[in-house]
Amino acid sequence: MKALQDATKNSCGESYNDLLARTYLNIMDQGKSCTDSAALAAEVNNTVDKTKTVFFDDEVMEFFEENELIDPCSGEKISDMLKNEACANQKTLTMEALEEKLDGFDYIINNISNPRINCLWKKLMNSNNNVICEQISYYEGKTELNLKIFSQDLNGQNAITWFDDRDGQPYISFDEGISTKCDIEIIKTMIHESVHAGILNIVKGTHAAGWGINDVPELKNYYDNYSLWHHEYMAGAYFEELVSALKQYFGNEYTDLVYEAIMWKGLHNTTAYRALPQSKRNQIENIWDQFNNSTTCKKSCL
Ligand SMILES: [Zn+2]
Repeated sequence: MKALQDATKNSCGESYNDLLARTYLNIMDQGKSCTDSAALAAEVNNTVDKTKTVFFDDEVMEFFEENELIDPCSGEKISDMLKNEACANQKTLTMEALEEKLDGFDYIINNISNPRINCLWKKLMNSNNNVICEQISYYEGKTELNLKIFSQDLNGQNAITWFDDRDGQPYISFDEGISTKCDIEIIKTMIHESVHAGILNIVKGTHAAGWGINDVPELKNYYDNYSLWHHEYMAGAYFEELVSALKQYFGNEYTDLVYEAIMWKGLHNTTAYRALPQSKRNQIENIWDQFNNSTTCKKSCL
C-alpha cells in the first residue's frame, strides 16, 4: 500500500480512490501478485489518466464542470492552467484557494447553451483575436472583469451586453435565433458585443488599475457628446480595429468590402455611418441583403 501511495504522488490523474480501485482491477486482470510493490507502482504510472484532475477537491471539480473558464487572450482553459499548477505543486486545490486565485485572472464564464453559438464562440476565443483580447482583458493586465456569457431567446435582437451593478460584473447574452445565420454574422456579433463589455469595464471603474472614463480620453469624448456613445465610439474611433478583427478570423475568405459592410451592421445608426456617401451605403446594404437568410454562406459548427 505504501508503494502505491508513493506512486500516486507522482501522478496527476484521477482521484486517489478511483486510481486505487482501477489499479487493483488491472492487476487482477493481469494475474499479478498484489504483494509485488514495484509492479504495483509501475501499474499506477501506466493507468493514470492525465486529462482528469486529481488535485482538485470535489467542490472545485463541480465548479469547473458547471463553469468553463477561458483566458480571453490565450484561449487557454483556466482549469487546465490551475490543474498543471496543482499537479506541479502536488497540492490539492480547494474552493477557498480557487476563489483567491480567480481574483487574479480575467476570465469568462461560458454558459452558452446553444451548441452552434457555443462552438463558434470557442473558435473565436481560441483564435487569438486582437479585439477579443484587448476588449475582454481590457488594456491588458489583471482586471476584476469576470464576463458571464450565455444564450437565450431575445426575440430577434442579436445580442445584449449589460452590467449588473449588484454583482459588479458584465454579461453578454446571444439570441438563440442567430444560430441559423452565416458564420461571419455570428462572429461579427461576438466581436461587437465584446467591445460593449470592454467599454463597460472602463465606465464602471472595474479596471484593476482603477481606470474610469476620464482615463480614456478618446472614449470620454464620445461619452460626453453622444447618447448612443458606445456605438458612436465603435463607429467613429474603433472601426478599423473591428474590421481587421473580423478579417483576422476569416482570412482571405471574403473581400475587404464584405468585412467592412458586415461590421457596419448594428453600427448603422451612427454619425460615422450617416457620413458615408449614399453610393457606399447602398453598396454596404446590398451586402447585408446577400448575407441575410443566405443559404450559400459558410456555416460551420452545425
Ligand atoms: Zn451594440
